[in-house]
Amino acid sequence: MTYEYERPATVSHGLRLHMNENTAGCSPAVVDVLRRISCEEAAFYPDYSEAIEAVARHLRVDRDQLALTNGLDEGIFATSVAALRGSSELDPFEAIVVPPAFEMYAACADAAGGRVVLIPQDQDFAFPLQRVQQGINARTRIVYLTNPNNPTGIVIPRESIIAIAKGAPHAIVIIDEAYADFSGTSLIGDPALADLTNIVIGRTFSKSYGLAGLRVAVLAASVARITALRRVLPPYSVNAVAAAALPVALSDTSYHDAYLAQSLASKDLLYAALDRVGVRYWRSAANFVLARFGEDSRRIVDGLKARGVHVRDRSTEHGCAGCVRITTGVLAHTQKCVTAIEEILCGAR
Ligand code: PMP
Repeated sequence: MTYEYERPATVSHGLRLHMNENTAGCSPAVVDVLRRISCEEAAFYPDYSEAIEAVARHLRVDRDQLALTNGLDEGIFATSVAALRGSSELDPFEAIVVPPAFEMYAACADAAGGRVVLIPQDQDFAFPLQRVQQGINARTRIVYLTNPNNPTGIVIPRESIIAIAKGAPHAIVIIDEAYADFSGTSLIGDPALADLTNIVIGRTFSKSYGLAGLRVAVLAASVARITALRRVLPPYSVNAVAAAALPVALSDTSYHDAYLAQSLASKDLLYAALDRVGVRYWRSAANFVLARFGEDSRRIVDGLKARGVHVRDRSTEHGCAGCVRITTGVLAHTQKCVTAIEEILCGAR
């Protein structure tokens, strides 16, 4: 079996509620920086001192515990290569993925020569701690965990993550915190990490900070682990423009806070609508909601698209039959989506 990331079709118009981006766009202060990029800045290889300093302050960790990456996609790829290097076809190293999960984990593990071991989530997306622990063996080199998860928005209990990392000292446990700004919980700074140097945490600035188009993220781990990861990362993978934009994005806290508040309000609006139409959903700690429209899922995806609202059909993911994932960002977008859902399901208006 081969695994690859299926890139969603490009949409040229309508509301992008299918990619979990910041649907309001980045802070206008970021665009000011972009406009002021000098000819020299474009011509010279980038210097990351300011960007790293800003992230270190923001995450309250030492700068040598961080590595910037070209989006978290690159961070996941590099971590996979670091973990699975030396795998052989006859007796491959193993990579544990807990589906439904971000497709890049299996794609990267596969690309790095590992054998993907799928340990599906329990009924209702409960985290299968025991089965993950049982799945760890001497060949396991990486375990991919997402907190909160995509596409469910559900949080993995901290104790479960710690237990897995303790039980797999020979493997990297990567905690993908792409949506942690929305959940407000992170393992970064957790005292347990002092002993668990096999944990690598990934954070991206694509989501709440709205920099997906610029491609910048960060890996956080022990100094030794980051040093090892640097060996598999290109020296200049983050471009000068993204590096200049990042400190400004991080410093515009009022813009960021306002977006987080809007995403929360959007989720409430969507939950209330789904309750009204009797559609099952999972309360999400991220900026999207997974809802089970069942037999109506195709009608919802197509009907919303016809009304200019793009959402993501997740029906083929493990445990997600009939499920659609809807990004919850700008309130007016969510309102339009909710009105369209009610129109499609109830023939209202
Ligand atoms: N992890 C998860 C769970 C994601 O959903 C995404 C974005 N789809 C990423 C990582 C990748 O983010 P980036 O834009 O930083 O590559």
